[in-house]
Amino acid sequence: MTTRIDTRSLKEAYPIEDIVGRYGIELRPSGRSLIGRCPFHVDRGRPNLAVYPASRTWYCFRCGCGGDAISFVQRMEGLGFRDAVARIQGTVERPEVPRVRPAPRRWMTGRHSPAWGPDERACLAAAVEIYHNRLLSDDRALAYVEARGLDLPTLERHRVGYASGDELAGYLRWRGLPLQAAARVGLVRRDGREFLAGRVVVPEIRAGQPVWLIGRSLDSTPYPDVPKYLGLPGRKPLLGWESTTSAESVWLTEGVFDWLTLRRWGLPAVALVGTHAGAAAVRALSRFPRIYLALDSDAAGQAAAADLVSALGPRAMVVQLPGVKDVADLATLPNGDATLLHAVGRAQLAAA
Ligand SMILES: [Zn+2]
Repeated sequence: MTTRIDTRSLKEAYPIEDIVGRYGIELRPSGRSLIGRCPFHVDRGRPNLAVYPASRTWYCFRCGCGGDAISFVQRMEGLGFRDAVARIQGTVERPEVPRVRPAPRRWMTGRHSPAWGPDERACLAAAVEIYHNRLLSDDRALAYVEARGLDLPTLERHRVGYASGDELAGYLRWRGLPLQAAARVGLVRRDGREFLAGRVVVPEIRAGQPVWLIGRSLDSTPYPDVPKYLGLPGRKPLLGWESTTSAESVWLTEGVFDWLTLRRWGLPAVALVGTHAGAAAVRALSRFPRIYLALDSDAAGQAAAADLVSALGPRAMVVQLPGVKDVADLATLPNGDATLLHAVGRAQLAAA
């Protein structure tokens, strides 16, 4: 015997617009419905998800699918009917933010992400999800990334997000994920605040699973002791490694936005996230017959490029960026990609 679930009173107690909003999907009034971006397809341009508070239903005009709050949760999380009901009812529970010791800050050393357990991995995935949904509906954050020359397909392909700073803990509770696990991976501080709050967040994704996150402050460092970039604790990976797996050549850059710029142009690329390339990074790169070094044109970048040439040998080719500080600066120029490829041509001529 199973208990009968009174779906009608459940849907009355938990309005559909609140349930959809739990996943970081912003809804704007439009006539008698609310409109937002559909999470079940890549929803570019005009948003396609309609939510009808009066009938407690939703519908996506692109996917051609819809239902009620329960079916929305089922689809979002791949849950069965009863688990989805339990998830919805679970919203009334508000466990306290645990006091835990965060992982040691070792984010500038090493290159391998720790092997997290299922809870930690689920927290990282949930954070990437809510941050990505937030970016697509946050005008200020979206304006920032667009001003840096990035387009929507690039942001979607690489699951770029924005940490608003006040959503993650509630979202993790809603998903039934332990906040202790989020604290262990460094997403949540000891005082319960979000580690990457106020930052554009770029995940490193391996086999579909985010393993590490780095955030860039929207403001140009509001306080002198606040770094422009902040990465989660644990070892820093070569950012974007999976974009290179079937490539014959690879581009190596310093920064997160350099990397996103190269990815926008469809080039296989990784970022050091800094200038330091350790022995493991050099080993990983040496499998490529050709490595284009597109590091910053300042003294530190050029010194790092020279070190890499001596470590990697003739397979490494230094690309001198013409009249710009870094690759990301090319993103906002009208023919930035052509300018970069001309620079490669010059480097190849010089080598020949
Ligand atoms: Zn859809």
